[in-house]
Amino acid sequence: MNCGRATEWLEAYIMGDLAPELADQLEQHLARCEACRQRYEQLRRLIALLKRYFAAEQRSA
Ligand SMILES: [Zn+2]
Repeated sequence: MNCGRATEWLEAYIMGDLAPELADQLEQHLARCEACRQRYEQLRRLIALLKRYFAAEQRSA
């Protein structure tokens, strides 16, 4: 796996949409690659924020 592929898969991985065998490969890459680990942390925080935002929107609708 290279960093480009890892970056493409990060979003699906965080959303729980990535196939288990691909998630395994991604986790192995994240364990070795500091740059992708940082991207993962940033994206994970962003998606958590968005989820909270949309959950709040639904409650007020
Ligand atoms: Zn990487």
